[in-house]
Amino acid sequence: MAVKGSCDLSFAAQTVEAWSRQFDVWSRVCEVVGREQKVASGKLLEQIAQVPVVRSRSTTTLGCYVSRSGTPCCIRLQFDQEPELLVQTLLHEIAHLIDHLVSFPGRSYRGAHRSGWTFWAIALGISPCRTGNSESLAQQHQQRKKLVAVCSGCGELFYRVRRLNRNRTYIHKQCGSPLKPV
Ligand SMILES: [Zn+2]
Ligand SMILES: [Zn+2]
Repeated sequence: MAVKGSCDLSFAAQTVEAWSRQFDVWSRVCEVVGREQKVASGKLLEQIAQVPVVRSRSTTTLGCYVSRSGTPCCIRLQFDQEPELLVQTLLHEIAHLIDHLVSFPGRSYRGAHRSGWTFWAIALGISPCRTGNSESLAQQHQQRKKLVAVCSGCGELFYRVRRLNRNRTYIHKQCGSPLKPV
């Protein structure tokens, strides 16, 4: 359930249920929740099902779970990662969503990657590690980098995805001279 105006759903949003069905893991989510959550598992599943999945363009984050004032807001998912990894990432974020709803009902989520999340990650059949690695995203990140500055002292070139903040002065650590934004 998204709180009105609380997050950006300008990309075509689908739900956790829709994408889990797409990747053939919705029955796994239902089975795990039914088995591990004896009380009100039906209501819990309904809540999980309708959380929007939003397309992310980040080349550094595979996915993330977003909540606002104690309520699930959405799962952001970068769809350009390798297909097997994409399913793992979706389940990783679903584990955060379930952990939030079960361990911190109505309160803000503080459980990232602690025992509650680890429990649901293992139950969902994924390895409980914080991060995944996507070769294709790393490549995309590399390709998006542009020349952003030149060192005014030694002439070294600096490449980044984002431009430098024009209101700040950046110093080249190696030679101590200020960088000139391009
Ligand atoms: Zn995580
Ligand atoms: Zn320099």
